[in-house]
Amino acid sequence: MEYTEIMVRYGELSTKGKNRKSFIDRLHGNVAKVLKDYPDLRMQPHRDRLHINLNGVDAKPVMEKLKNVFGIQTFSLSVKVSRDFEDVKKKAVEMMHEAYKPGMSFKVGTKRADKTYELDTNQINLQLGDAICEAFPEIDVEMKHPDIKISVEVRQDGIYLSYLTVKGAGGLPVGTAGKAMLMLSGGIDSPVAGYLAMKRGVDIEMVHFFSPPYTSEQALNKAKELTSKLTAFGGNIKFIEVPFAEIQETIKSSVPEGYLMTIQRRFMLRLTDMIREKEHGLAIFNGEAVGQVASQTLESMAAINDVTTTPILRPVATMDKTEIIRLAEKIDTFNLSIQPFEDCCTVFAPPSPKTRPSIEKTRHFESVLDIDGLLQRAMDGIKITTVEHGNKFMESDQENINSLL
Ligand code: ATP
Ligand code: MG
Repeated sequence: MEYTEIMVRYGELSTKGKNRKSFIDRLHGNVAKVLKDYPDLRMQPHRDRLHINLNGVDAKPVMEKLKNVFGIQTFSLSVKVSRDFEDVKKKAVEMMHEAYKPGMSFKVGTKRADKTYELDTNQINLQLGDAICEAFPEIDVEMKHPDIKISVEVRQDGIYLSYLTVKGAGGLPVGTAGKAMLMLSGGIDSPVAGYLAMKRGVDIEMVHFFSPPYTSEQALNKAKELTSKLTAFGGNIKFIEVPFAEIQETIKSSVPEGYLMTIQRRFMLRLTDMIREKEHGLAIFNGEAVGQVASQTLESMAAINDVTTTPILRPVATMDKTEIIRLAEKIDTFNLSIQPFEDCCTVFAPPSPKTRPSIEKTRHFESVLDIDGLLQRAMDGIKITTVEHGNKFMESDQENINSLL
């Protein structure tokens, strides 16, 4: 069947009162961004829907892209027919030929956006139902849980028929909840935390700490590659890299081993907060999960969090590792995350970090350091790039194989 349109239905938007318009505008902008490679598509916004006229473009890749856009509840593929009811009947039967398998039940549901049409909703349902039953004498009509639902929408410019409805990503359009920083390591958890922040409409910027020469260019590229994966859900993302080696060396030579990790994390948080302020962000997201490792006990979180009053949001805080991994697989970051490049935290990890650091002792051990000078030099070394959808930062396996041949 030659489909002519994708009809996109919004999610939670309808409950947002006055903000509605800006939500819808943002959603349309985000849809346009992910579909920028298809200039022939025609977007036609309607009150609580977006109609994407395919204009000859293959629907499949377009639907794959739409599945990632937050703020979309469902979307359907539809065919436009003239307002001549004989045409509509013919098309509905043709559609059933595509959808029907023996034993299936069906129902017709009609919406009339154009109330002037010659038949009312009931008449359309009944007459189309009859035409289908005539063509498929074995078929059952089922009002509550039909296997196939043929949806009919009567509009001024024609009548639209559809039966395939795809579940969208849900959530809120990225950008509608404001901006925040995500502390992105090369691990499994923080990209998932970023995905979940985006799902609630947050526009994230990545803050990544790296420690050359202790960490390699590959480790940095891995973080950028993870960022590139997340652009599928909201378009370009700013990537902010912060040199961290001087701070780590200084801490290592000046504070007791048990407190190395806590104090390193406090510096990371301070720097992220300084960047947040510059970038006009409202909050900080990270990938901490309660009890996962020594730095993520509640005592540790309290000792680290002590350096700021900015809201720190931890989307994966209560998830088991297996639940986080499932999400990482779904968003296609897992295989990248498990590539074994050293992270700045593992290079400087003390053999036995304190799992219950005291805030007083942490502050005391830190007081010997030139905190402001260290922070300022790290800030001076920041590099900002924009990661665009489809950017590649690491050689693909195929390229690696080719270089070996
Ligand atoms: P992840 O938690 O992403 O799997 P990880 O387990 O290596 O990575 P942890 O040591 O668990 O990282 O750190 C907890 C959180 O601290 C991370 O989820 C991330 O938000 C932040 N973080 C750790 N290392 C870095 C880094 N190099 N740059 C930015 N943020 C970091
Ligand atoms: Mg972790």
